[in-house]
Amino acid sequence: MKGLLIVLSGPSGVGKGTVRKVLMEDESLKLAFSISMTTRQPRNGEIDGVDYFFVDKETFNQNIKNGELLEYARFVGNSYGTPRSYVEKLRNEGKNVLLEIETNGAKQVMEKFSDDDKFVSIFLLPPSPEELESRIRGRQTESEEVIQERLAKSRKELKLSSLYMYQVVNETPEQAAKEISKIIKSKEN
Ligand code: 5GP
Repeated sequence: MKGLLIVLSGPSGVGKGTVRKVLMEDESLKLAFSISMTTRQPRNGEIDGVDYFFVDKETFNQNIKNGELLEYARFVGNSYGTPRSYVEKLRNEGKNVLLEIETNGAKQVMEKFSDDDKFVSIFLLPPSPEELESRIRGRQTESEEVIQERLAKSRKELKLSSLYMYQVVNETPEQAAKEISKIIKSKEN
């Protein structure tokens, strides 16, 4: 049976990555993470082909031209996109594919899959705006300028949470992952 297509969005710093890691540990969810392509520079510890496919602008544009991206968007000065064939291959193998993407790309996917009953969209919310700012600052790998841009973008993204089928508050990664697991299991049946 074809797997689900799950879009998970949430503002920068909300903890999507941590929640995803908790989810991926639960083998019963049959989750596969869609590895995106980006023109952003790797952060410390990020691995090419694991966290992202890190590419230059030319390669990214060529992928757009060839229709190889399911969706793509600009985010704080860089491009991000989802390779289409990988997602399809995994879904055809029965895997539930998780796309961790920002809101503009998510909107493109929502339009394409609006009639698909195997599509789920989830928005991860912070417990409070203050908590979000401290998490973005806590990362300490980015300049003040980039932090300000990410904060501004976060405020914009929060306003779009109602476009998603489900909203989950990230009080703790374990609790958020549990709620998302329930959503996935309910959709599978
Ligand atoms: P970061 O630079 O923090 O890794 O990611 C910035 C934003 O881009 C996050 O909201 C992340 O979810 C989003 N993102 C990652 N991959 C993709 C993608 O393939 N497409 C889109 N539209 N957004 C992505």
